[in-house]
Amino acid sequence: MRIPLIAGNWKMNKNPAEADAFMTVVADQVPDPDQVETAIAAPAVVLTTMAQNNAPDRLRLAAENCYYEDAGAYTGETSPKTLAEMGMRYVIVGHSERRLYFNETDDLINRKVHAVFRNQMTPIVCCDETMGRRESGEKIHWVVSQVTGALKGVSEQQARQLVIAYEPSWAIGSGTSASADQAEEGCYLIRQTVADLYGDPVADDMRVLYGGSVKPDNIAELMTKRDIDGVLAGGASLDAETFLQLTHYQN
Ligand code: 13P
Repeated sequence: MRIPLIAGNWKMNKNPAEADAFMTVVADQVPDPDQVETAIAAPAVVLTTMAQNNAPDRLRLAAENCYYEDAGAYTGETSPKTLAEMGMRYVIVGHSERRLYFNETDDLINRKVHAVFRNQMTPIVCCDETMGRRESGEKIHWVVSQVTGALKGVSEQQARQLVIAYEPSWAIGSGTSASADQAEEGCYLIRQTVADLYGDPVADDMRVLYGGSVKPDNIAELMTKRDIDGVLAGGASLDAETFLQLTHYQN
């Protein structure tokens, strides 16, 4: 039984005061995490206040990125060990914006995946897919190679806990989500890749999310699909009421 995960990714938005205001609205209203798990990924500087102030127990906190070493001379980077000490449950790794603007490679992403697991957190590994690749039929190779690259050396037990997000870059921030069928196709491909690497029981335990212009009016249909266990929402997670609507997609 895979528990749905509805996660927001604030990207480089919100200051601590805005984050506090958001938390005040959502604190008592997010679903019971045994039924539907919810998470917010916020910038590291904002997470500090969120972790100290009023993050409700039932809303998980997530980082948007981290480095692969726990400490050392890495100016400007964020330690996964510190994130774990602050109470982070998840870390987004390999978001398409990090691949595109910060040249993150599968090898770097793989190191970060290991760092997150080493610090007892769960990576949310993002897989990208451009429209060009989709149209050329290359998407299969592309998604498979990103998943395989990110999971190198990951144990079966770790793979079971893993979360992977299918985030076609043509749907991110565009206002046009992939159709539920297109999203299912990508999520199915990810699960099949994990099944090929670790076997069906592991692939059946692992959660796969869809991200790209998820909104209150398209989430319910996406969530009917067999291989979609949740969403990673950007824009729609910034407004507290809209995020709450996403988390209560069943109503
Ligand atoms: P949007 O929901 O704004 O399209 O962003 C999706 C995303 O990148 C989540 O990580």
